[in-house]
Amino acid sequence: MSIRERLAKLNPRQQEAVRYIDGPCLVLAGAGSGKTSVITSKIAYLVQECGMSARRIAAVTFTNKAAREMKERVGTMLKGREGHGLTVSTFHTLGLNIIRAELKALGYKPGFSLFDPEDAKALLRDLLQKDAQVDADQINRVQHRISNWKNDLILPGEALSHAADQDEHYAARAYEAYGRHLKAYNAVDFDDLILLPVVLLQNDPEALARWRRKIHYMLVDEYQDTNISQYLLVKLLMGERATFTVVGDDDQSIYAWRGARPENLVTLGEDFPSLKVIKLEQNYRSTGTILGAANTLISNNPHVYEKTLWSEMGRGDPIRVVVNRHEEAEAERVAGEILTRRIKERAEWRDFAVLYRGNFQARILELKLQHYQIPYKLSGGTSFFSRNEIKDAMAYLRLLINPADDNAFLRIVNVPRREIGPGTLEKLANYATQRECSLFAACHELGLEQLLPTRAVERLGRFTHFIDGVRRRMDSGDAIAAIRDMLIEMDYEAWLYQNASAPTIAERRLANVWTLIDQLEKSMQRDPEETSEENTASENTETDSVEAAISRLVLRDILEQQAEEDDSDRVQLLTMHASKGLEFPHVYLMGLEEELLPHRNAIEADTVEEERRLAYVGITRARRTLTLTLARQRKAYGELMDCTPSRFLDELPQDELEWEGRADKEDPQKKQARGQNAIAGLRSLLN
Ligand code: ATP
Ligand code: MG
Repeated sequence: MSIRERLAKLNPRQQEAVRYIDGPCLVLAGAGSGKTSVITSKIAYLVQECGMSARRIAAVTFTNKAAREMKERVGTMLKGREGHGLTVSTFHTLGLNIIRAELKALGYKPGFSLFDPEDAKALLRDLLQKDAQVDADQINRVQHRISNWKNDLILPGEALSHAADQDEHYAARAYEAYGRHLKAYNAVDFDDLILLPVVLLQNDPEALARWRRKIHYMLVDEYQDTNISQYLLVKLLMGERATFTVVGDDDQSIYAWRGARPENLVTLGEDFPSLKVIKLEQNYRSTGTILGAANTLISNNPHVYEKTLWSEMGRGDPIRVVVNRHEEAEAERVAGEILTRRIKERAEWRDFAVLYRGNFQARILELKLQHYQIPYKLSGGTSFFSRNEIKDAMAYLRLLINPADDNAFLRIVNVPRREIGPGTLEKLANYATQRECSLFAACHELGLEQLLPTRAVERLGRFTHFIDGVRRRMDSGDAIAAIRDMLIEMDYEAWLYQNASAPTIAERRLANVWTLIDQLEKSMQRDPEETSEENTASENTETDSVEAAISRLVLRDILEQQAEEDDSDRVQLLTMHASKGLEFPHVYLMGLEEELLPHRNAIEADTVEEERRLAYVGITRARRTLTLTLARQRKAYGELMDCTPSRFLDELPQDELEWEGRADKEDPQKKQARGQNAIAGLRSLLN
């Protein structure tokens, strides 16, 4: 389809948004109104109608899944080489690319490590425990605080001088030490992927000029969930030219807890007075009933921008609310329904999505789906990357590209067993601290022999020698072959078999490790096209791209916690947070109960509005049918608790709901209450 034909399919407002390229543009519109469609069409328009090179265009969004979907949609529009060099990625991947290209300017050495939140926590724990015993809660709080500072672009100095109380002061001091250590390890954390590029572009006019030359047009999806650092990144990259299009929906802002600033929508208008704002009003996704329910629910939140949404899809089926005895019955019900509906409606498995508030809710459902042999895909939860064997393999990869990565060193120095015990490691760590060097470097130092028995020194030496050998082989030839040889040479397979309770488990673990290496290889092959010109110009392209590929793997792990890009025919299980931007013909929303949705923490913190937006996101994923389920009893905090139906059920248009499973029999009087106020009746039964 030509771009003209494609444009003709869009409504006049969408066309206007696609065609407007002279200045900053904001598309502000509700769910399913075609915002993402505007972005994908606009990329094709820029390339095919305006003759802009795809290399000069960067489109960013929030999750890998969304980036992948967007890439696919664009892929069908651009032909042959038209799309080469186009960046369609998450914010964090864009940041990672900038950091990789600007390592020198940033003061990092080649082969830096990307710490995932767990690594970061381990480092923080070490730092905090130097002075006193601290509990896990405290560490989490400090980590969260540091993350928020980074998202707000507040550097340690400022955090210290503005600390309001003792707790903040404590966290700010930890922030400072944490930053220093990360740098010493030649490592960055997840939030640094945005923070470092912003700080660089603010302070280094040459780097700024380089990136402005490189990126001429930016498109941002899900703009309402940008944090301050992300907004500044866009603003810096675009500068005065302000050639960007951002699309968003303030009603779908669901990441405030992670530093997102929906008020960035307002800031945009202030920072760019020439901003063109386009509103879209037609929803192309959902039936009138579903859309009506979503609109009614969200009208309970205050609004800065008034939006109206209508649909031509007809009324469709009523929304069903299914009350179950307990959580197991709820899961059973959902699984059973998917099974029968698939047959009745000739639906495919992939047409169904089950959404929930927290990953823990998926466990029972998984068992039921397995029981009925329904294929499913779980996003989040126990991921490929959180498997032990993958963590080990990743630690090897990280150590290979950055020997100063102490976390990686500690994870695998004795995996497979090399008779290097905790006593040895403790002494080694003390020595490294004294010498202010990494553990790996400390192994090479002569002074170690005074502290450790000869045998221990030899064992450490053998290990570092082994790693150095692999590094040399990687540098001089086929890096992937060197990595494969390494796994064989150290007989990782035997180690897996020794440690698994059954051979089939070991087999699966081994297969996982090879899958990881295959993915790494694939990712390297893709690399030349994706790297910016600045990168490919570097001297050692081979290792450079292994490093790049490894960093990307680590990033993918953090972002999506899911390795397989599995788009086969499966029921999708995901949290409401992860469902943003997606759509499915049949949606089940589980656990519509107080303390679950809205979440207990949100009720306590008085942030129910964000939970309402989350429910709005969930509801608006549905195209044809929507089923809301809840349980009367649920295990929580180790006990069986009575549940109260979610207040959000009260807020939906009651005559559009079809209730099932109300326990009328238990109380004949309640029968009369039916149809008056369904939820009020239900509530009294439940309490
Ligand atoms: P969300 O807020 O959930 O991210 P969105 O505003 O990004 O939604 P899209 O995902 O772009 O909406 O579009 C929703 C659905 O409507 C998609 O299936 C898309 O293909 C379809 N659609 C968008 N625009 C049109 C149009 N002009 N005509 C027909 N279908 C359209
Ligand atoms: Mg979208």
